[in-house]
Amino acid sequence: MDDAPIENAKSDTSSFVFQRRKAAPGDLRRFLRRQMRLRLQRVLRNNYVQRPLFWIGTVLGIAWASPLTLVGLLLALPVALLRGHMQLVRGHTIALLVRGPIADWLLNRHPFGPMNAMALGHVVIAEYQGLSARVLIHELAHVRQAARWGPLFPFAYLASSAWAAIRGRNAYWHNRFEIAARKAEKHF
Ligand SMILES: [Zn+2]
Repeated sequence: MDDAPIENAKSDTSSFVFQRRKAAPGDLRRFLRRQMRLRLQRVLRNNYVQRPLFWIGTVLGIAWASPLTLVGLLLALPVALLRGHMQLVRGHTIALLVRGPIADWLLNRHPFGPMNAMALGHVVIAEYQGLSARVLIHELAHVRQAARWGPLFPFAYLASSAWAAIRGRNAYWHNRFEIAARKAEKHF
């Protein structure tokens, strides 16, 4: 919608009136939608909104992924009790990081081959030696995936591996969730 000056035919040529050009209904809808989107973006950028939104999202994600986290906690318990330790880490989400000799033992026997770390819901079990910031970012990406998919995550993960294997690709490397987690590492 533009304000276009047009000449008023009745008066002399020096006087102009501003007449609103008639906009097509589609234009108006697009304009209003864009205005609404901009206003929403401005509100979402506001820190007072972003912080509570982060926490609401995190709490919902924790609740949704809780069945997986429970399995993670069952594995984490012996790791922590036998000369291991736990700490809370926070990136774009929060997770309980657990390390210890039992974790090293478990990770060397991972079904996909020896691993540096693995995420089960909001629990990350990691090796003492193999844990780096990059590995942690990778695992936190899996935590976010679990928060998004909830109890469906293991099935979606396995389906993606199966799909990769059917196409003659590597079930781990070409799994879409692994590809996304590797992409997250690049932001490190
Ligand atoms: Zn991974």
